[in-house]
Amino acid sequence: RALIAVDAAAQDGHEVYYYQNGEDEAHLERLQIIDELKHALKNDSGQLFMAYQPKLNMGSGKIDKVEALIRWKRSNGQWVSPEFFIDLAEQSGLIVELTQWVVSTVVGQVGSWLHEGLTMKAAINVSAQDIANKEFFSHLERALAKHKVPANLITIELTERDMIENEEQGINALKALKSLGVMISLDDYGVGQTSLGRLKMLPIDELKLDKVFILKLNESHQDQCIVQSTISLGHQLGFSVVAEGVENAESLKLLKQMRCDYAQGYYLSRPLPTKEFLDWLGSYNEVV
Ligand code: C2E
Ligand code: MG
Ligand code: MG
Ligand code: MG
Repeated sequence: RALIAVDAAAQDGHEVYYYQNGEDEAHLERLQIIDELKHALKNDSGQLFMAYQPKLNMGSGKIDKVEALIRWKRSNGQWVSPEFFIDLAEQSGLIVELTQWVVSTVVGQVGSWLHEGLTMKAAINVSAQDIANKEFFSHLERALAKHKVPANLITIELTERDMIENEEQGINALKALKSLGVMISLDDYGVGQTSLGRLKMLPIDELKLDKVFILKLNESHQDQCIVQSTISLGHQLGFSVVAEGVENAESLKLLKQMRCDYAQGYYLSRPLPTKEFLDWLGSYNEVV
């Protein structure tokens, strides 16, 4: 304890308390963040917004799709990473409300783009809890109708972990979504636990290779083998294959040679707020 106190004092003066109560403090901070997130959602204060990252159609060379990624800037000016607060939202159940906000925002955005003459597909990330929730389906259906967005412009991205939670119920929910006309994408493929046997049972349209296989694709023979065989496997099973985490021209070129269907990554663009995304799109020159 003494050592803890010394360490703490070395850090900033009155932190003995902080250290001795480290876990409680962390717990409190999490509660506080969940509470803030709840408020940010309720008041639509502008703290939360969607960023859009282009997905390049490797066949046409065009950008016809984006992934929508949530961003949060707390009232104290601090950015919180979605990995952190999505996790908290899942643990606290707030995810259901958060996803509803995301769905309304993204479908609304796709609708206003359509209205302005821009046909852009969008992918939305959701969690296992959303899929298990009946409201999710009807909320999505209502949003599509309200904004006059054809369902096939929307893709739902789910990770392997989210997809296999409550397996049967989950698969039925995915089938219902598909019958609505939305696309289903298996996100972060290759780092989870989907066996090949299960893969063929999943009602999906798209496989999204995890970025761990893509970030250093240009340098790694192993990654090239994995990516090439996954693309072939995906195609033979009838899926479209997307690579996320494309950070350089060489990797993009390799993916093109491997007949990957879509590429997404910092090499093309980071996720951008609506206006910046449109500016980027306006000056985009085909790279493949
Ligand atoms: P994800 O769905 O796998 O999203 C891809 C992540 O990779 C994004 O991180 C994106 O910014 C990042 N990324 C894209 N290209 C590159 C690249 O070239 N290099 C590197 N190093 N990273 C790249 P982000 O936005 O921080 O989101 C992290 C995760 O948080 C997402 O992973 C997703 O699981 C979750 N998430 C984000 N937005 C939402 C949302 O609206 N709802 C839900 N449920 N989850 C979300
Ligand atoms: Mg995703
Ligand atoms: Mg991913
Ligand atoms: Mg991920």
